Amino acid sequence: MNGGGFFERVRKEIGRRRRMSARLLIASSVITVLGFSAVCGSIMLDMRGNAQELARQTQENLASTISADINRNIEAYDLSLRSVVSNLALPQLAHVDETLRRLILFDHASIARHFGSIQVFDAQGNLTIDSATLTPEKLNRGDEPFVSAHRDDPTVGLYISRPMQHRGTFAIVLSRRISGTDGRFLGVVAGSIRFSYFKQVFSRLRLEPDDTIGVVARDGTLVMRTPFRPDVIGTNVMGAPGVRQVFSQRRGWYSGEGIIDQIPRMMVWADGTRPLVVIVGKSWSDVFRMWRHEAIRISLILLGLAIIVAGFTVFFIREIDRRAEAERRLEELATTDSLTGLINRRKFDTLIEREWRRALRMNTPIALLIIDADHFKAFNDGYGHQAGDQVLVGIALCIGDSVQRAGDCAARFGGEEFAVLLPGGSATAAQGVAETIRNKVAHWSVGQGDVTVSIGVASMTPAPGQHWPVLFEAADKALYAAKDLGRNCCVVAASRHDLTLAA
Ligand code: GH3
Ligand code: MG
Ligand code: MG
Repeated sequence: MNGGGFFERVRKEIGRRRRMSARLLIASSVITVLGFSAVCGSIMLDMRGNAQELARQTQENLASTISADINRNIEAYDLSLRSVVSNLALPQLAHVDETLRRLILFDHASIARHFGSIQVFDAQGNLTIDSATLTPEKLNRGDEPFVSAHRDDPTVGLYISRPMQHRGTFAIVLSRRISGTDGRFLGVVAGSIRFSYFKQVFSRLRLEPDDTIGVVARDGTLVMRTPFRPDVIGTNVMGAPGVRQVFSQRRGWYSGEGIIDQIPRMMVWADGTRPLVVIVGKSWSDVFRMWRHEAIRISLILLGLAIIVAGFTVFFIREIDRRAEAERRLEELATTDSLTGLINRRKFDTLIEREWRRALRMNTPIALLIIDADHFKAFNDGYGHQAGDQVLVGIALCIGDSVQRAGDCAARFGGEEFAVLLPGGSATAAQGVAETIRNKVAHWSVGQGDVTVSIGVASMTPAPGQHWPVLFEAADKALYAAKDLGRNCCVVAASRHDLTLAA
C-alpha cells in the first residue's frame, strides 16, 4: 500500500458506504411504492367486490320485480282457466242458452289487452267455445302440444306452451285439462299471452345495450328475451352453462356467455321456483365500468407517486454520490502531501500503528525505511528552493516506483525526509527495496544536481509490550549510521535482539 494504494482503499471504503446508502435508499423507495401498491391493490379489490355485489343486488331486485309481474299475470290467467274448467262441469250449463252459457263460463275471465280469448277444445281438439265470439270458427288443434300434453298425462296441471303463432300473433299458450267425473279426458281450456305483454314489461326498463333479460320456462325453453331475437325464442337453453342450477335454487347468479353474442355476463335470477324464471344478464364489462374508471385513476395516481419517488431516489443518490466524492477529496486533502502526492506524516502514523498491531497479532515481521536526501540544504542553496521542490517530487516518484506491493506504503515525513512501511518485510527484503530506491534516485538525478539519498532500514517482529516507535528509532539510527558512512548508502539496523535492547 503506497500512497496510491491508500487512496484506493479510502475510495473503496467511501464507495462501499455510498453503495450501502444507495441500496438502503432504493430499498426504502421500493418498499414505499410496494406498500402503497399493496394498500391501493387491496382497496381496489374491495371496491371490485363491492361493485360486483351491488350489480348482483340490483339485478336480483330487477329479476324479482319482473318475475313477480309475469308470474302474477300467469296466475291470474290460470285462475280464469280454472274457473272455466269448473264452470264447464256445472250440469245446469247444458240447459241454458248460448249467451247465458258464455256469461256463466267466462264471468271471471281476465280480459286484459295482452291476453288472448279463452277457448275450449273438445277431446279431439275441435274448438267448441270461444270467449271472443258466439260463432267459433271450425278449427282442430288436436295435434298441438297444449292439447296432446293433457290427453297423454292427466297430471300436467297448467301447461305453458313454447312460443308459437297463435291466432295471428306470437304468443305462449296456457292450457288446463277438462276431466270427466271418471277422470276421462274431455278436452282443454286454453288461453294465450301475447308477446306484446313481455315487450310492454321490458319497455318500462332502462337497460344498457349489453343487458339481457331472458324468460325461461321450467323445461328450459326460452320464452322471451330482450333484446328481442325471434331466431332464439323457443330454443332450449337448458344446455347453456349455468342455466340448470337456475331451477334448483330459489335465487343466485352465475357467470355465463350470451347465447347470441358470446359476451361474458353476470346472470342473476330471483325466483327459481316459478313457472317462468326471469334471468337478468349484465355484461361484466358494464358491472365493472365504474370500478375500472376508479382503478385506472388510482393506478395513474400510484404511477405518478412511483415516478416522484423514483425521481427523489435518483436525486438523493446523486446527492450521496456528490457528498461521497467531496468526502473522498477532503480525506485525500487531509492525508496527502500536496507537493509529492504521497500520504503525509499524520496518516503514516495511523497506518504504522495499525500495521504494527497486525504484525503483533500475526507474529510477522514489519520493516521501515527512513529516506533522507543528502546535503539537501546545499542543493537548495545552489539551485534554489523551486528546483529543490522538483527534486523532492522526483525522489517521491522513485520511491513510489519501487514500492509496488499491495500493503506497502510510502509517505513524506516533511522536509527532505521520506518513509516506507513494508508490512511482512524481512530485513533482507527491506534492504532490497532500499537499494532499489537509492539506485533509482541516483540514476534519475544524474545531471539534475546529482542528488542522492541515504536510507536507514529496520525490520522486526513485534513482541508483546513493544510499540512501533522502537522500529522507528531503529530505522532512524540506521539512517544516521548511513549518513556517517558517507551518505548515498543503505544501512540495516542491528538484529531483532539489538533492537529490543535499543528499546
Ligand atoms: P544531510 O545530508 O545531513 O541530510 O544534509 P541536509 O542539508 O540534507 O540536511 P539539513 O537537515 O541540514 O537540511 C535540510 C534542508 O532541506 C533544509 C531545507 O532547505 C531543505 N528543505 C526542507 N524542506 C524543503 C522543501 O519543502 N522544499 C525544498 N526545496 N527544500 C526543503
Ligand atoms: Mg533531514
Ligand atoms: Mg538531508
